[in-house]
Amino acid sequence: MRICRFDNDRLGVVIGDMVHDVSAAQTEIRAAAPYDMKGDAVIAALPAWRSRLEEMAKKAPGKPVSQVRLLSPVARPSKVMAAPTNYTKHIQEMREKREREGQASRYTAKIGEDGIFLKANSAIVGPSEGIPLRFPDRRNDHEAELVVIIGKEGSDIPRARALDYVAGYCLGLDMTVRGKEDRSFRKSVDGYAPLGPWMVTADEIPDPNNLQMTLHVNDELRQQPHTRDLIYDVQRLIEFASSFYTLYPGDVYFTGTAEGVGPVKPGDWIYTRCDAIGELKIQVRAHQAASQAA
Ligand code: MN
Repeated sequence: MRICRFDNDRLGVVIGDMVHDVSAAQTEIRAAAPYDMKGDAVIAALPAWRSRLEEMAKKAPGKPVSQVRLLSPVARPSKVMAAPTNYTKHIQEMREKREREGQASRYTAKIGEDGIFLKANSAIVGPSEGIPLRFPDRRNDHEAELVVIIGKEGSDIPRARALDYVAGYCLGLDMTVRGKEDRSFRKSVDGYAPLGPWMVTADEIPDPNNLQMTLHVNDELRQQPHTRDLIYDVQRLIEFASSFYTLYPGDVYFTGTAEGVGPVKPGDWIYTRCDAIGELKIQVRAHQAASQAA
């Protein structure tokens, strides 16, 4: 099943090229969710609601995907996790870039020693929102990544059971301002965590470690990550993160990017594709400073 959020915080089931509005379910699920719950109520409720959502979607009139404004498929993750150096050739390209610039390399293949990092939840946007570049004079890079959406609470999750904790998958861009500041700071700019185009439930992707993705900027092919090249595969990433954190429904996990990372500028369109998921299409734009309150 493909689940999207669209327009003004509506919930949809995507069938073919049509979005079927099941927002009534979202309203009921959210009304029953305790305010202090950790995680996203709708993602947490999916196992119990799935067959009802399918019934509702069949009865709801469809609207073409091209005519809705897609939002992030998760409204309220408790955290956004990200694997930093999880493809060998990307580590190599970043190492070479820093050597050219005369900087000490900080890129190793030791994710187990370096750990993962967190991006701010407030950096999440959906495809319709665009990516506002706050520092257009600095280098802003795209990183195409498979994103795991956690489905249920768990801690110290063993590898063998890791996929039981996955609600589904989407595509993500781990956008980055290059510079000397802490990584998490530079990757948490508003809009620097686009997710989409929707969540594909885990039953449709039995092996997340066998997915081909592509990333184009305008019509130029930049990246072709294949998840068989992940250093820590999806199960190991979940095992590793959950040895430090409790994972909650709706938690988002960027799995790392491959080589071909490169800069974007306002006006560029970024297309990230995966046959098993769909196409995340988003435009880079200029950041508009918020008007100051008097
Ligand atoms: Mn990344």
